[in-house]
Amino acid sequence: MSTLYDFKENIKKEELKKIADKINEGGLVVFPTETVYGIGADATNSKAVKKIFEAKGRPQDNPLIVHISNLEMLKDIVYAPTETEKLLMDSFWPGPLTIILKSKKILPEAVTAKLDTVGVRMPDNDIALNIIEASGKPIAAPSANVSGKPSGTELSDIYNELKDKVDIFVDGGKTNIGIESTVLKVDENNVVNILRPGKISVEDITKIGLEVKLDKHIFEDVKENEKVESPGMKHRHYAPNTKTILLEYSDEDSIMINKVKEFKRNNENKKIGIICFNEHEEAYKNMGIMCITIGSKSNLMEISRNVFSDLRKIDDMDLDICIIEGVKKEYIGTAIMNRLIRACEYKIL
Ligand code: AMP
Ligand code: MG
Repeated sequence: MSTLYDFKENIKKEELKKIADKINEGGLVVFPTETVYGIGADATNSKAVKKIFEAKGRPQDNPLIVHISNLEMLKDIVYAPTETEKLLMDSFWPGPLTIILKSKKILPEAVTAKLDTVGVRMPDNDIALNIIEASGKPIAAPSANVSGKPSGTELSDIYNELKDKVDIFVDGGKTNIGIESTVLKVDENNVVNILRPGKISVEDITKIGLEVKLDKHIFEDVKENEKVESPGMKHRHYAPNTKTILLEYSDEDSIMINKVKEFKRNNENKKIGIICFNEHEEAYKNMGIMCITIGSKSNLMEISRNVFSDLRKIDDMDLDICIIEGVKKEYIGTAIMNRLIRACEYKIL
């Protein structure tokens, strides 16, 4: 049986102490961050970390992100960061940015999947920071969801799939950003390689004067035996059981709407649904297509907050196929499209 603590209004001191004790006993705690919910354990406790992999059904070769609440903790885990890495930390921590750093190999092998690097981030969420601080341990925490499913952005989405597997759930309401952190690695020429896009965008990193590259697997599937910079790229992610197809973004509403009209005409006897912009809902309803609105096309943050819970709704609609409207690949839109193209298993309309 798991316990639920409600921290939506405020962080309760006595309960925080119980959470910290549970972490120190090697337990699992689901807690909010500013990106998505995490399923966390003491990163220094090998047994506890293994429980995370079991609870999620996570492939053992996919390393975990280690969450810290202050820079002192960083010194124990990794070698001194370079000037470029320090600039990234100063600019974006606490925040939705994971930096892959050279590991001191103090953490158990399960955390790093035996790599010589470790992904570290300082989350920008008071509940998360308080839990880390109170436990006094770095906390290894992947997204709170069964592997392959969309990440959890509110407890109601993930409670049932995790309730028998974790000790404590901490409710902090719906998460602010809604998609996971940007993961990056700085190469020997001080170029920032984005391995997974997130809220901290190419534009944000360029603005602080650094050169940035997007890894090619952000929009492309990994071929068999192909080497990847980040193990997570290889794994199936976010895809509902229903067949889904991605509709590429256009500034012209009519271009997107006409493509859907044609698709509907060519698939007369199929039950079609769509995840669409608020602005397009009426047009699709008039075609007899079931709609889930994801937000306004001009508000990428709204879309980012809704994307995972909307993906979770698709299978309940009993469709033959679900179209998903894509967004413009700029700012956090790049990250949204990275998740959507995977949810659609690289099928584009
Ligand atoms: P999750 O915590 O489920 O959002 O996933 C964490 C992501 O970070 C996965 O895609 C991992 O493969 C990636 N990651 C974590 N540690 C490393 C590392 N040391 N090197 C490269 N990628 C990493
Ligand atoms: Mg995940």
